[in-house]
Amino acid sequence: MNILILGGGGREHALAWAIRQNPKCDRLVVAPGNAGIAGVAECAALNILSRAEVLEFAQENAIDFVIVGPEAPLAAGVSDALRDAGFLVFGPSQAAAQLEASKAFTKEICDACGAPTAAWARFTDGAAARDYVSAQGAPIVVKADGLAAGKGVTVAETVSQAHEAIDAIFDGEFGETSVVIEEFMAGEEASFFVLSDGTDCLPIGTAQDHKRVGDGDTGPNTGGMGAYSPAPVLTEALQAQVMERIIRPTIAEMARRGMPFQGVLYAGLMIEDGRARLVEYNVRFGDPECQALMMRLGAQALDLILACAEGRLAEAQVTWAEDHALTVVMAARGYPGEYAKGSRISGLDMLPETSFQMTFHAGTALKAGAVVATGGRVLACTGRGASLAEAHERAYALVDSLAWPEGFCRRDIGWRAL
Ligand code: ATP
Repeated sequence: MNILILGGGGREHALAWAIRQNPKCDRLVVAPGNAGIAGVAECAALNILSRAEVLEFAQENAIDFVIVGPEAPLAAGVSDALRDAGFLVFGPSQAAAQLEASKAFTKEICDACGAPTAAWARFTDGAAARDYVSAQGAPIVVKADGLAAGKGVTVAETVSQAHEAIDAIFDGEFGETSVVIEEFMAGEEASFFVLSDGTDCLPIGTAQDHKRVGDGDTGPNTGGMGAYSPAPVLTEALQAQVMERIIRPTIAEMARRGMPFQGVLYAGLMIEDGRARLVEYNVRFGDPECQALMMRLGAQALDLILACAEGRLAEAQVTWAEDHALTVVMAARGYPGEYAKGSRISGLDMLPETSFQMTFHAGTALKAGAVVATGGRVLACTGRGASLAEAHERAYALVDSLAWPEGFCRRDIGWRAL
């Protein structure tokens, strides 16, 4: 089978690494890919937001199966264009991708199917939003109603902070004209990943990530500085509760509306006193959670996502090992603020690449034979072991073998569970 993966980050490297191990995979192309992905797949320079360009490439290269990694091509309808042309695709339609692209849409779905989530209200007028916040009081959460790459959310501790966030949104900082105001939910956050073929659902793992840049969960928010799987807080009983009260009702409601969800549904959950509520949905794998999940799933990842795309999830099953995986993101100094590009990373070729230790590339390129950093988040050093402590040791052993003075990482990934 000829497979095309769209994307070029650590998530796509992890997907490519797992899929490559499956004998069903004959040819593997990743667009645009990166220096690490080039070690396991062909890389193709493509504008993955262009339906026409992706379609033409898939046709010319006799691609049998397309896997969409990031949210942007999903929101741009690339999966629809491919499906309309007869391609087998893993990833939701543009309509179903609203579960991530529009916070108000997700809230309406939750209300319609009874999935527990924070109380909310939507405003297209700044003054009305400010009045609502004044009446509700703080803490309260202010969200730009669209894709804002993790930067559109303010958890306001005071009413005046919330007012500032509302003003920033209506001043056009996020190109938004609407805002969602939510009740603040206390508790512990965890992520739950479920495949759905539109009708049936299959849980494929839990994870927790670290969003803040600094040790002890301090400093500004990032795309994610590390993650581990499984998440101990999501017990079997809680997972069953989430499937019954949140995931299945959502999938049924989407089907009822004529926009069946096919792909991976990534539920961000808030857990308090044995009860889970939905914070948000994403419609693709998390990065870096995907790196930990793929280490645990290995080659079967292809069988599972293929069953999902072909509508055969009812007969699919995950073969679990009693294992844990942990990934540590190495970023360029300065991230998530300004950082320099082009610094050279040494020692990568000496690192082990096994089912217990893998260094996934996020923002790298090859320049004159050397690997250089091209992004903010650059590498995801990932370990797997029989315990979380073992996975942790293996991940940090990779970190400590690298020579990259311009890079940094958090030293406390997994602290909550260790
Ligand atoms: P963006 O839209 O900018 O891409 P996002 O999709 O990451 O952001 P959310 O996941 O909805 O946005 O919110 C980001 C974080 O804010 C959550 O991970 C959580 O920590 C916090 N948060 C969001 N909503 C709430 C809430 N109602 N109560 C408490 N914390 C919240």
